[in-house]
Amino acid sequence: MDKKEYIEREKIRGILHSIINDSNCPMYMLQVYDQMLDHIPAADVQEVRRGKWLYEYKSGTPIKEGVVSSCCDMWNNYRTNFCPHCGARMDGEEK
Ligand SMILES: [Zn+2]
Repeated sequence: MDKKEYIEREKIRGILHSIINDSNCPMYMLQVYDQMLDHIPAADVQEVRRGKWLYEYKSGTPIKEGVVSSCCDMWNNYRTNFCPHCGARMDGEEK
């Protein structure tokens, strides 16, 4: 099965520009690559939100039971892999 991967246009542009800065590379190639990048359609993807379960609200108010999402500050009665309120992936990394 095909696994789709998504890349960031500006990251690729930056990499290409650093490669093409080589004096052996003809300058018109840079314009070709630039135009090519601009014509690749953007994928309809959502950035994955990440968070972790906490034992207090953002206000600092501690909770007696359950956990609180670091992303949306909503209470849940137990830890889940994804926050049922905001959909964040709860693997501990905040982004
Ligand atoms: Zn949440």
